[in-house]
This record gives sequence, structure tokens and C-alpha cells, in this order.
Amino acid sequence: MRSRDARDAGDSDRTRRRFIWLAGTAAMAGLAGCSGGGGAEPSETTATTTQSSGSTGGVPEAYATATSLDGTQRNPDSLSSQEAVSYQDEPSEGRQCSTCRYYIEDKNGDGVGACAIVAGEVDPEGYCVSYVEYEG
Ligand code: SF4
Repeated sequence: MRSRDARDAGDSDRTRRRFIWLAGTAAMAGLAGCSGGGGAEPSETTATTTQSSGSTGGVPEAYATATSLDGTQRNPDSLSSQEAVSYQDEPSEGRQCSTCRYYIEDKNGDGVGACAIVAGEVDPEGYCVSYVEYEG
């Protein structure tokens, strides 16, 4: 015959096993909820680079290997994405692309230029964390 302590220990064991089983079941139910449910699949994709639009790095051909205000030559194969440098379309504390050493001025009259180190078209009033004032 089992002692009361042994029974208690046995009960405790069963309780623990039951808890683990319930926890597992709950986890499975949670997973089922995530993978099923008939909801629409998320359609949002995250753009991680703007360098994929051809060999120019996201700009018209005229800018592809142009030089910036300080003479830095743009290399379409070695550019940061605008996301990576937190590019924005407006100045920051008086700093903007048109006064940055890496800015490539508008060449086709559309009001936007490019950058020697960042992919994509760049607004002269834009700004990014790689800004370096042009002192030429
Ligand atoms: S502020 Fe950034 S994006 Fe603008 S010209 Fe300078 S480096 Fe390029």
C-alpha cells in the first residue's frame, strides 16, 4: 500500500504531466490559429534596397557613374540603399543633399539629382545620415 506522501507525489506528478499536456495542446491550438484561419496572407513586402532597378543603381543613365560635388565618382555596384541610410525627402537641421559633398546635381531638368554613395534619385532638399557638408 502506498503512503499518503507517495500518493501526493503521484498526484503531483499527474498534475504536472496534465499541465504539460494542456500547455502543449494550447501551443498547438495557437499554431493552428496562426497557420490557418482563412485570413488574407500579409501582402506587404519590405523594400530593402533600391539597387535592383538595373545597372544604374536606380537612376537615369546620365547619373550612373557621374561625379558628385566633391568629385567622388558614383559606382552603381557599390551603393547604400536609401533605407540603410535613413534617407528622407526633407532637410534635417539645415542640412540637405544639395550641400552634401556626395550630391550629384540635376542633369535632366526634373528637379532631382543623385548621390555618389546612395542608390536612387535624390531630392536636393533630401537628407540622410551619411551627409557630409561640401566645403568646396
Ligand atoms: S545627404 Fe545622403 S543622400 Fe543626400 S547627397 Fe549626402 S550622402 Fe547622398
